[in-house]
Amino acid sequence: MNHFLDQLRAIVGDAHVLWDGDLTQWEQDWRRRVRGKALAVVRPANVEEVAATVRCCLAAGHSIVPQGGNTGLAEGSTPDASGSQVVLSLTRLNAVRNIDTANLTMTVEAGCVLQTVQEAAASSGLLFPLSLAAEGSCTIGGNLATNAGGTQVLRYGNARELCLGLEVVTPDGRIWRGTSGLRKDNTGYALRDLMIGSEGTLGIITAATLKLYPQPAARLSAWVSVPSMEQAVALLSAARTHLGEGLTAFEFMDAQSLQLVQHHMPQLRVPLDQEPSPYSVLLEHSDSESETHARMLFESLLESALDNAWITNAAIAESLAQSRAMWHVREHIPLAQAQEGPSLKHDISVEISKMPAFVAHTGEQLAAAYPDVRLVNFGHLGDGNLHYNVQAPAGMDAKTFAPLEDGISDLVYAAVLHFGGSFSAEHGIGGLKRGVLATHKSAVELDMMRAIKAALDPHHLLNPGRVLPDAAS
Ligand SMILES: Cc1cc2nc3c(=O)[nH]c(=O)nc-3n(C[C@H](O)[C@H](O)[C@H](O)COP(=O)(O)OP(=O)(O)OC[C@H]3O[C@@H](n4cnc5c(N)ncnc54)[C@H](O)[C@@H]3O)c2cc1C
Repeated sequence: MNHFLDQLRAIVGDAHVLWDGDLTQWEQDWRRRVRGKALAVVRPANVEEVAATVRCCLAAGHSIVPQGGNTGLAEGSTPDASGSQVVLSLTRLNAVRNIDTANLTMTVEAGCVLQTVQEAAASSGLLFPLSLAAEGSCTIGGNLATNAGGTQVLRYGNARELCLGLEVVTPDGRIWRGTSGLRKDNTGYALRDLMIGSEGTLGIITAATLKLYPQPAARLSAWVSVPSMEQAVALLSAARTHLGEGLTAFEFMDAQSLQLVQHHMPQLRVPLDQEPSPYSVLLEHSDSESETHARMLFESLLESALDNAWITNAAIAESLAQSRAMWHVREHIPLAQAQEGPSLKHDISVEISKMPAFVAHTGEQLAAAYPDVRLVNFGHLGDGNLHYNVQAPAGMDAKTFAPLEDGISDLVYAAVLHFGGSFSAEHGIGGLKRGVLATHKSAVELDMMRAIKAALDPHHLLNPGRVLPDAAS
């Protein structure tokens, strides 16, 4: 063991092999649901050090858990309890290598924090549109490894759609230098797409070439009250027609989500709270002309929505500060949920046209089987993606709630399946949903996934026991 640690120190330097202090920040997941034990946390500074670390771990037979900002919600970025895994933290690979304004691309290292990537693009007058509430601490490597979604998917797509090239260290410790900025390259299997969303099980992403967009001339947000899910879907269709490509976000929140924010974060003002509504929607419009043009389009949309009774009330942000305040409310729902007590998260997607029936059906089933639980339903309705979360009955502690969890999730996932949806829209599988994957993926899909894992990582070196149900440590 000492010899192994000495070898790691020789690769990355003494200060960057951590093993005997408090390793909580690397060993515990963001939701504090799981806590593992690492043999060591290794923090390489560049791709060559990552590759050498992989070869060293392979030779010594110690598996690796790649880790970025450790904000993942699928229990995939922390070590198991064995004390034999190495956490390979990418956070020191944090250089912006290049911004190509003519090609509309930037190449960044995997450990760059998402917000830093956005700011670097903005400093060149361009937009990197990936945006999610964890952007101040998640890394671009983690975003790509989980194919993260967020609030701008409606217009710009998931992380996968925003990536043109990758640099990857393979499970045998070689470097694939694929950070090309080409938009057309049909030269064999799509290895980039295989790596994206593989959650650290097929390769270690060390850098990426990302797509950039022109900055919009104006961004405007509006908060509206919606009487029903059907009306929310009608509003979405109208918004697509009125705003076209300008519709960049359409976030849905139920009354319970907003009550939790009001209760736990009284400093945040929920818009239109004088007349509480069963549902609210936060829309964002990005305009290539001007703020005046954006406001005109928004007003015309909202007038038509009021006339058609799709909405009952509306507020268009008057300033950037007001717009930010609206987004803060939306972004603080997960934190308010955490403060309220135990809850179960279901990151599901259903075709938008089926969403009202799914929400009605599942809500009725839950209320009948678990009358005291509280539904906290919010998310990216524009992408057909809801965080269909279930909060424990008021005052119930985690120990008492735990025995109910499997039954509640089984009910929700059965309903998702019934409506042809997905049980993990954007958070991935990790360790949390391996069992659900085993139940809901077909045998042919599971066999293809196993074959890919066996071909690329025959020794199960990278994140064993994650994603695939039987990829043993
Ligand atoms: C408050 C909050 C809001 C969120 N909102 C959203 C949202 O709107 N949309 C959404 O999609 N997700 C959301 N997430 C979850 C999201 O997956 C993560 O925030 C983010 O994408 C993960 O990045 P990370 O650097 O923290 O990765 P980590 O948590 O460190 O890792 C996540 C997974 O990727 C692997 N991994 C990490 N880095 C690499 C790498 N360089 N190479 C290979 N594998 C790697 C890990 O092994 C692990 O399996 C949210 C999380 C929080 C806490």
